[in-house]
Amino acid sequence: MIIAPRVRGFICLTAHPRGCEQNVINQIEYVKSKGTIDGAKKVLVIGSSTGFGLASRITSAFGSDAATIGVFFDKPSSPGRPASPGFYNTAAFEKQAHKAGLYAKSINGDAFSKEIKEQTINLIKKDLGQVDLVIYSLASPVRTHPEIGKRFKSVLKPIGQTFSNKTVDFHTGNVSEVTIAPAEGEDVENTVTVMGGEDWQMWIDALKNANVLADGATTVAYSYIGPEVTKPVYRNGTIGAAKDHLEATAFRISDSLKAINGKAYVSVNKALVTQASSAIPVIPLYISLLYKVMKAKGTHEGCIEQIQRLFSDRLYVSGEVPLDDKGRIRIDDWEMSEDVQNEVAALWQKATTENLSEIGDLEGYSNNFYNLFGFKVDAVDYDVDVNEEVTLPSES
Ligand code: NAD
Repeated sequence: MIIAPRVRGFICLTAHPRGCEQNVINQIEYVKSKGTIDGAKKVLVIGSSTGFGLASRITSAFGSDAATIGVFFDKPSSPGRPASPGFYNTAAFEKQAHKAGLYAKSINGDAFSKEIKEQTINLIKKDLGQVDLVIYSLASPVRTHPEIGKRFKSVLKPIGQTFSNKTVDFHTGNVSEVTIAPAEGEDVENTVTVMGGEDWQMWIDALKNANVLADGATTVAYSYIGPEVTKPVYRNGTIGAAKDHLEATAFRISDSLKAINGKAYVSVNKALVTQASSAIPVIPLYISLLYKVMKAKGTHEGCIEQIQRLFSDRLYVSGEVPLDDKGRIRIDDWEMSEDVQNEVAALWQKATTENLSEIGDLEGYSNNFYNLFGFKVDAVDYDVDVNEEVTLPSES
């Protein structure tokens, strides 16, 4: 079928298998071009199908020849209905990994559940014995708690006071004022339950108790800090409370892994266009200004550049992993550098509907958004019929 984008707000209801495949191939080529990383050889990625998790899987496989198991939650295709992009990405990744002689299997299901944890452990036992790196890269608006069965919803709200600032509709370029009411009731606790560290800890406990973590195993989860302008709605808001919890969990996990010489890290990554970040008000405007400034300076990175640098310059350097004063890895260093932040802050004051396409990288934002779903990818002919029905190579 011919598959065109069907966009509704910050999601796209369709995805293009060839475009997704090309995105994966481009990321693989990038990692290969940067040379070998002396990293882990058996890797579990939880949240492996898009964004930072997919980049982590690709970097492990094609930078370090690692065997990878990916856990993700995506919609498969059915006749006449394209899959979600993470499904196509995973199929494309497995195809390329198998071609390169690398082990790659994937589990599509709810990572928050006990069943998927058990299934993953059984697969590790059967095929790999143990893993030496676990990447935790879930981004989800909901979580059904495996013990109490209740479904929790996360919200993106400020805490304590109403927040008003500029935002942009990245489809139209319309800059407007957005007002977000503060969290109420159990909003903060619920968001921490969904996006905090409890599930990460549950995964590591389950893996450790099943003896599938190798001696010296490392686990990494991803966090974000960001600039002053987004602080009330991000870092000081409900999602920030969850990130505080995630970051504190790293220390608890490290303690629990002492017996096997293991270690847990949180890496603070750069703001990027992903399905998760497009949904947060104010962030798209910040990202479009940030991209413009960083591209002009030659320091702009996407997910794959970020994760390749995380692995090669932070995680797998000789000697200690460099950490900030709160014990976190910082790969948002270029985003947070003073000159970049000063320039973005000055542009923020000026940004209007009329000037944004000039002072910001609205086009880059929009293209990136379409790219997430396999659209507007160079070298893909969208007028050619494509088979929407794709299966995971490891399942056929
Ligand atoms: P993403 O939406 O691209 O990827 C999320 C992944 O989680 C997908 O593979 C999806 O299939 C999987 N997933 C979601 N719910 C699941 C479930 N119930 N079971 C199994 N898999 C599930 O998100 P992303 O932007 O790459 O975010 C990953 C992490 O990086 C998050 O912790 C996020 O906060 C963090 N981060 C993001 C940014 C950013 O700007 N995007 C910046 C810094 C840190």
